[in-house]
Amino acid sequence: MKVYLNGKFVHHSKASVSVFDHGLLYGDGVFEGIRSYGGRVFKLEAHIDRLFESARTIMLRIPMSRAELIEVVKSCLRVNRLRDAYIRLVVTRGVGDLGLDPRRCARQTVFVIADKIQLYPRSLYERGLDIVTVATQRNVPEALNPQIKSLNYLNNILAKIEAINAGYEEALMLSPSGYVTECTGENLFLVKDGALVTPPPYIGVLRGITRQTVMDLGRRMGLDVREDLLTRHDCFNAEEVFLTGTAAEIVPVVTIDGRVIGRGRPGPVTRRLQEEFRALTRTEGL
Ligand code: PMP
Repeated sequence: MKVYLNGKFVHHSKASVSVFDHGLLYGDGVFEGIRSYGGRVFKLEAHIDRLFESARTIMLRIPMSRAELIEVVKSCLRVNRLRDAYIRLVVTRGVGDLGLDPRRCARQTVFVIADKIQLYPRSLYERGLDIVTVATQRNVPEALNPQIKSLNYLNNILAKIEAINAGYEEALMLSPSGYVTECTGENLFLVKDGALVTPPPYIGVLRGITRQTVMDLGRRMGLDVREDLLTRHDCFNAEEVFLTGTAAEIVPVVTIDGRVIGRGRPGPVTRRLQEEFRALTRTEGL
């Protein structure tokens, strides 16, 4: 496999970054996880825009234009002869000294990895997922805004560890006042009375690109799509709950903290959205 690293394509065994890179020392950097279907990159411009927004907030200059980044992502697929792939685009502050002062980092590190997509087991989509609320709260926007897709994912990893320790694969994270935010790498939706509801960004969730796509699809299907504060009670009593993310796409949730959601199997709205989403990935993309 060939990896793009600072202007060149190198064999993956040679694609390494310095131990002085602040991306490694401090998680000082931003990234995107992108997916291609049949050779077309899904929502590529939205991912590039989000990367530039994350970078602006942390005052990280991306040393390439949007068009150049798009070209590099496309080249990564071509060079590796990949059509269905998972693409990781990373920009770090670069090599500095052991202090955290970003001014010591002369040049940003940019790399892009395109790899075969690790598909989740079919059973996950057919049976649905059991999730559990964890004690680790989602980062608050006032401290570290979840809109910044940064290289520091410890908040999410701590939640994931809690879920695993409890015997679950995925964690539901709450805000400090107990509102539902998101899972460790996916946004959450519920369906009730013809409405499709997802928590608002200000409570502390990433504005997921799959989340936006599902909101658009929901509106086209005639659902009342809203962002609203949600409690665990709202989720327990929903007809359907599902998660969205680039890697996972749309995953039905069938129990939360031992409470069976709806009929305990993937519901009709979730299934319809999965179909519509699949159709979109076949026709859209750069
Ligand atoms: N929330 C978090 C914390 C994530 O890391 C991700 C994955 N990027 C998502 C939600 C889903 O976002 P997207 O649909 O853009 O992949």
